[in-house]
Amino acid sequence: TRFHDLDLPDPLLHAIADLGFEYASPIQAQSLPYALNGDDLVGKAQTGTGKTAAFLLAIIDELLNNPIEGERFAGEARALIIAPTRELVIQIAEDAKALTKYTDLTVHTLVGGMDYGKQQQRLHSELVDILVATPGRLIDFTGNRDVYLDHVEILVLDEADRMLDMGFIPQVRRIIRQTPQKHMRQTLLFSATFTDDVLNLANQWTIDPVRVEI
Ligand code: AMP
Repeated sequence: TRFHDLDLPDPLLHAIADLGFEYASPIQAQSLPYALNGDDLVGKAQTGTGKTAAFLLAIIDELLNNPIEGERFAGEARALIIAPTRELVIQIAEDAKALTKYTDLTVHTLVGGMDYGKQQQRLHSELVDILVATPGRLIDFTGNRDVYLDHVEILVLDEADRMLDMGFIPQVRRIIRQTPQKHMRQTLLFSATFTDDVLNLANQWTIDPVRVEI
């Protein structure tokens, strides 16, 4: 599949071309038709397969195609990506910035070890379209009412198996409870392995998900 054959908005196609991507990788080719259609998805993919662009393209397509009319509250996120580590969050945010460079969409990053005040200030000075965060830091921000998740349209759980291994599931549960109910949002879950535990979480957090394995 060529990216040009997917029905993507022009600003997104330009950014993809700038990155030098021409053909969708296998995980992208298999997941994008469903993800762009708004379906929930559970994907088995390791790092290096292009899974990040797979979920970012779905998010950016959704946000560009459904602009919000009227007023938005400060701190209200439209898309939320939860990942287990600071490094992964930063990498995802960099990819998101590259893919949104011809749009007005904003990308915000919340990770531990970074100045809380600075992150807070940015959240209040700009709208929050795409929020990328580690679970603990995100709970600090929602607890302090600096971020609101009740209007999240797309939720992505990246490296779910690692979040399990690192003991983050109780925190992730608390976060997901603050997002709209599962039939009111789109949920994409990625994991390098499909253990029973991962599939059990996928079952709780998604509706009729398409299963993609590469
Ligand atoms: P990821 O699996 O998301 O960590 O991506 C691995 C690497 O592949 C990243 O450096 C991406 O920039 C790159 N990449 C993602 N999708 C494509 C594509 N369709 N064609 C070429 N490179 C890609």
